[in-house]
Order: sequence, then C-alpha cells, then structure tokens
Amino acid sequence: MSNSGKIVKVAGPLVVSENMSGSKMFDVVYVSDKKLMGEIIELNKDLASIQVYEETAGIGVGEPVYPSGEPLTVELGPGIIQSIYDGIQRPLNEIYENTGDFIARGVSAAALNRKRKWRFEPIIKKGDMVSGGDFLGFVNETEIIKHYIMVPPGISGEVKSIQSGEFTVEDTIAVIKNKDGDRQMTMIQRWPVRKPRPYLYKISPNMPLVTGQRVIDMFFPIAKGGTACIPGPFGSGKTVIQHQLAKWINAEVIVYIGCGERGNEMTDVLLEFPKLVDPKSGVSLMKRTVLIANTSNMPVAARDASVYTGITIAEYFRDMGYSVALMADSTSRWAEAMREISGRLEEMPGEEGYPAYLGARIASFYERAGMIKCLSGSEQRFGALSVIGSVSPPGGDLSDPVVQATLRVVKVFWSLEGRLAYSRHFPAISWLNSYSLYIDNIRDYVTKNIKEDYFDLRAEALRILEKESELEEIVRLVGVDALSGPDRLILLTARMLREDFLHQIAYHEVDTYSSIEKQYKMMNTIIYFYNQAFGYLRLNADIKAIENMRVRDEIARMKYIKKDDIGKIDKIKEDIDKEFSSIIEE
Ligand code: ADP
Ligand code: MG
Repeated sequence: MSNSGKIVKVAGPLVVSENMSGSKMFDVVYVSDKKLMGEIIELNKDLASIQVYEETAGIGVGEPVYPSGEPLTVELGPGIIQSIYDGIQRPLNEIYENTGDFIARGVSAAALNRKRKWRFEPIIKKGDMVSGGDFLGFVNETEIIKHYIMVPPGISGEVKSIQSGEFTVEDTIAVIKNKDGDRQMTMIQRWPVRKPRPYLYKISPNMPLVTGQRVIDMFFPIAKGGTACIPGPFGSGKTVIQHQLAKWINAEVIVYIGCGERGNEMTDVLLEFPKLVDPKSGVSLMKRTVLIANTSNMPVAARDASVYTGITIAEYFRDMGYSVALMADSTSRWAEAMREISGRLEEMPGEEGYPAYLGARIASFYERAGMIKCLSGSEQRFGALSVIGSVSPPGGDLSDPVVQATLRVVKVFWSLEGRLAYSRHFPAISWLNSYSLYIDNIRDYVTKNIKEDYFDLRAEALRILEKESELEEIVRLVGVDALSGPDRLILLTARMLREDFLHQIAYHEVDTYSSIEKQYKMMNTIIYFYNQAFGYLRLNADIKAIENMRVRDEIARMKYIKKDDIGKIDKIKEDIDKEFSSIIEE
C-alpha cells in the first residue's frame, strides 16, 4: 500500500489517523517515521483509531501512518521454544543485545532466527497427497521437542518435491501442487493472532492434567485441555502458583504470558527455569517453554497483543498433537488495557468502566482451550490446550467484572484467600470455596489408571474439612472440651489434612512437587489414621491419647519423603496400628 495516513489525534496509547479508507479493521499499521507498531481497532470511513503497541510519547498530529494491509500475525516455526518474546513477538534477548534496551521503540527484529540452520527430516515423500495440518517432516528443536513442520491450513495437493538436510526457516523444504499453482513450503507459517487456528472437532476433556500440587490434583483437578482461573488479592500467591504450574505441570509445551505484572517476576522465571530439570526427561525446563513478557513497565496496549500472541503459539504446538499448557498472569492487567483503550475511544462503559465486550473477549480467549482432533487428512492426531489465567481483582473482591466474566467460562476455580496467605497457609487455595467441574469427566480415567478409591478419599477428606468449619463456630463459643470424641477427631484430622497434606511449600526442594502416587499414599495414610482412630474411639480409647500419638510426627513428615522412598509412606500404616494397640493396652 502506498497511501499513508495522517495523525489527527494522540491520546496515550491511542492514535487517530485520517486518510485510512484502504485499511481494514485489525490491520497492522506503522505510526510515524519511528515505525511504531499498532493495530486498527475502530474504522469510521477514512478515520482509523489505532492502538499502538509502543510508547507514543513525542508522536504528534500531522505525522504519517503507514498501513501494512495485514492483520497482526505471529511467525510459527523452529526457534520458538526457549524464546522470550514481548507482546508483539519481538525476541527480547535480541533486542537487548542490539539496543541495550528491552523497550526500545520502533525496533523490528524477526521472531525466528533467519540464519540458524535446522536439520529437517522429511516424513512424507514425493507424490504423496497432503492437506492442511499434515506433517511434512520435523526438526529436533530441543532434546524434548520434536517440532513438526505442517502444511499450513488451506493448502492441499500433491508433493512435487521434498528436501532433507540443513535449512534455515526461509529455505524451501518442499513444493506442493496447490489448486492455484505450485507452493514453496518453508519452515515458517504466519497466522493472524485474533483468529483461532482450525481443528477438526473438540472432544470432552477426560484426562487429568497433573500439576504436582496436592490441593489441585487431589481436590480441584484441571483436565487436559481444560480451563482454570486463579483469582485472589495481592500477595495471595497467584504468581507463585502460575510459576509452579509452568514448572511442574504434566504438559509437553508451556507458554507463559507475563501480562502487566512486575518485571522482576519475569526475571525470576528467566533465572530459575534454565536451572530446573523436568522430572520426566531430566533436561532443563526451558527446553519446553516459551515466555511472553509484557511487564508493567511496557506499553499498556501490547498486553492485548501478548495474550493473543501467546495463545496462537500455544495452538500451533497443539496442532502438532502436543499437550500444551498456557498460563497468563494476570488477565486483569489485560482487561485494564481494554478498559483504558475503550475509555480513549469514548465507548459506552459497562461495569466498573470496563467495555461492554469484556465478557465476550474473555470468553473467546478461554474458548481457544480444549482437547481437539487435529487438522490432518492423513493421520489421527489429538492435541490439547489447557489455559490457566490468574485474575487480580482490587481487594480480592470476587464480584469484580473480570472475575465474574472469567468464572462464567472456566471450569475450575482455585479461590485464593488473603486470610490463608496471612496465616502462611500456602498454596492459599480455599478448600471450601474452590471447585472443579472436571471430576465427573476424569473419574473413569483416574479410577482405572491411578486408584480405584481416589475420589472416595477425596470425598471423605472434603467432608472432614467441611465438618471442621461447622465445628469451628461451636469451638469459638464453648471451647474444644465441650465437643464429643468423634468431633474432636474431626478437628484433629482436618488439621492433619491442612498442615500435612494441603500445605505445600513451593520453595522446598522435595515438597515443591508431589507425584500423583505420593499424593495418593499421603491422603490414604491420613484417612487410614482417621478410620482407625474412629474405631478405637468406639472401643473407649481416650481422644487425648489419640491427639498425643507419636505417629502424628511421621505423618507430618510424609511430604518430605523423596520420590524414590515413597514406599516408606505405606509403612506408616503399620506404625499407626502398633501405636493404637499400645494405647488400648494402657
Ligand atoms: P500474588 O501474585 O497473588 O500477588 P505472589 O505469588 O507474588 O502473590 O505470592 C506472594 C508471596 O507469598 C510469595 O512471595 C511467597 O513468599 C508466598 N507464597 C505464595 N505461595 C507460596 C507457596 N506455595 N509456598 C511458599 N510461599 C508462597
Ligand atoms: Mg502476582
């Protein structure tokens, strides 16, 4: 496009330009001769409102605006894994090396390295018929990620040639005879971020996505391809949980979006992740991770782009048949960006000043999650994209419009409570208010593949904890001595559940991650203790003697038992039995 527009107004991240009649909604434009990237978000005859992804300070009326004629796209291909991008997929390392500044304006840097050569191994051969989503071949992007090169959606036909060997992402690796002529295939695909990538169909999620966090896996599990949200007040542990998930969740590819939060939190990730080792493969966790950083010191409008950039990258790996997990911290900062832009556009505000379309945007973001049958003509392939967003409502108030809009679409609610965080109970996920709507979906899988009585133990533990909260009121009024033996046993067991099972320190070398086997054994031991104690109470054992049992120390130390020793947890049951028989003798 040759015609350029002219700025008529600059209002923070919003720029209005005239002479834009050739452009379309959501086209990318470059603002001023500094070439600041922006996106058209409102078009009225020849007047375009543009949200600019870089600081607009110093930009003024009369300066030019250059249309690109294209929507905001991401580059998809080898080199994405281990990258750290900003909201518009600029590689931050490279920008930093070139300019010494992460937030330099108007810098363009290719998302994928153009010089690096990758060893491409073909999967199909000359003469094969292929269509969108089919694998042409792969490169070993990292030790743990085979990066499949797929036919882009919409292209199909006979393979006229296919290469093998070392190539850059721009070299031709295959030629496909498409209906409109021959298409040179490279290892790069481009995809407009606001458009979900296609798949054949969605399947109801039926497998748990194990996180190694006991309160989550045992009480409020998320399914593979599921959605969850973590609302909570400042300091309640949202970021720590998101980091824990990014580290330990049982997914093959992780996309982590740091959206509008403090920069030092991203630094923590950058310093920590390379050192951490994936429990399954034994290699650094960065080798399966993509980071998108749009921290609080970066331009507000780019938060919007960062969310879409992240989810599109996640969909791309899902399309290869991987289980992908995406974390966004915090979606409230994204919503605030929408509110700011909407205000500048002078749109009719909805609740709390958020735009009326807030709910629709949040819904369409989470709807990109799912367990899917991948687009592919030649093979059966399934992929999963799980999405977990944190929400930071002012004062932790759950009536906040962002929380409410999110709860309408997600299926898991991990309710972080300030009260728990103040008392140093971490993760501060409420066992009374949280929920997971995946229990029935995953029941079959869990009872067949993990343990038959997994959900029975869960139900019993939740019952004890609920009963505890009822009893607390009575204890406050009349004291604990007024309670019956069985009720005191409920309090004792609930305390064990809270302190010895739910409480989990993210920073402890062993406790940071609990395998599902370990979680089961721990829970099984506590419930075993409860049932035995209940039996002995009926034989007139003294509740005080039970409260003072030595075996309780062993139970309290279960969480620190290392992965290779978890058999030791089973032995605690024998000690429970021994100590109970000695109580009865006395
Ligand atoms: P938020 O993101 O909700 O503002 P953070 O995730 O930054 O809160 O957590 C605040 C602090 O709470 C952390 O710096 C840490 O000290 C503590 N914390 C949170 N979760 C845990 C955990 N699982 N284990 C240990 N400490 C935790
Ligand atoms: Mg935080």
